[in-house]
Amino acid sequence: MKNIYVTSPLLAPLDEFIPYLEEIWQNKQLTNGGPFHQQLEATLAEYLGVKHICLFSNGTLALLTALQALRIHGEVITTPYSFVATSHTLLWNGLTPVFADIDPDTCNIDPGKIEQLITPATTAIVPVHCYGIPCDVERIQSIADAWGLKVIYDAAHAFGVKVDNQSILNFGDLSVLSFHATKVFNTFEGGAIICSDLKMKQRIDFLKNFGFLDETTVVAPGINAKMNEVQAAFGLVQLKHIDAGLAKREEIYQRYRKYLDAIDGIESFSVPESVEWNYPYYPISVESNYGLTRDELYEQFKTIDVYARRYFYPLISSFSMYRGFPSADESKLPIANEVAKKILCLPIYPDLTEEDQMKIINFIKENTKVTQATSTLP
Ligand SMILES: *Cc1c(COP(=O)(O)O)cnc(C)c1O
Repeated sequence: MKNIYVTSPLLAPLDEFIPYLEEIWQNKQLTNGGPFHQQLEATLAEYLGVKHICLFSNGTLALLTALQALRIHGEVITTPYSFVATSHTLLWNGLTPVFADIDPDTCNIDPGKIEQLITPATTAIVPVHCYGIPCDVERIQSIADAWGLKVIYDAAHAFGVKVDNQSILNFGDLSVLSFHATKVFNTFEGGAIICSDLKMKQRIDFLKNFGFLDETTVVAPGINAKMNEVQAAFGLVQLKHIDAGLAKREEIYQRYRKYLDAIDGIESFSVPESVEWNYPYYPISVESNYGLTRDELYEQFKTIDVYARRYFYPLISSFSMYRGFPSADESKLPIANEVAKKILCLPIYPDLTEEDQMKIINFIKENTKVTQATSTLP
């Protein structure tokens, strides 16, 4: 039997990719902002409905560079409920992460918990649109405006997400995407920074290329974080299939909802009507009235070759390099700690078959709590 993972990375057939490789072999430009790189930037900016996009070799280097581009220093308020890269890039920039608790309905940073964490050293907020569910961007922006803070969204999950027909990537000072193989849209590895100002794009572009402004001028201590031509070409091919892929994801989401909503102790997530979602994950919350604990369900799934993922467990704040920060204390992050114990992400990807999905659904159904029949005595 084949293993079923939470995601599957290939949207396009191999033969569509071959002509692109032939072109690279002909023109011999392998990297440094070649033709496919330029084409992917233009095509993605239009597809996503954003002003400027700077491509990167991965999302982590894009986050690292976004913090450099805005010269963020001191303390940064962020969420503990994310992939470790969100906080790791703060440490790599010599910044102090300050963890704020999350909203249980969205798993995103709770805007009501931000202001109490602001100190004279705070310079930025780094929220995550977790599972592609939009943060409360209006409230976060009004806090940032009141306190003079920058906002950089880790939008690694939010490719293509819109609110009231506006790209979620247009909020905050910068947004960062990941095109890792596990994401909705991938370039094997890859990432991007979204910005609205051409001068900022130019600054980011030289920061990702060692700080070179031109052949002989180095204007900043840049890094090498460029996307290469093979990645960019793959992105162009994948992009042709993204709409079909998103439609399949929605279909799979709806089928899960139809069956799982009827199961006691299994809670699914919804997005508001105004959100055009991308269905990147299918998180369920395994409640105490279900027949198994979250970890038992996670382990039992393996017996039918299903490899679900506990995104995000453990919390970033509980890893050894973060535990010592005052804001990482479990008692200060009660919601995040509770959610991290209950969440499980189920397989969702365009070529997940209905048969495999029903196998997953039926397994969840079979493990519901057996309630004792209560006999009523006369
Ligand atoms: C995937 C991911 C990243 C890292 O992106 P890479 O492209 O793998 O470097 C950062 N933040 C979040 C929330 C992610 O899910």
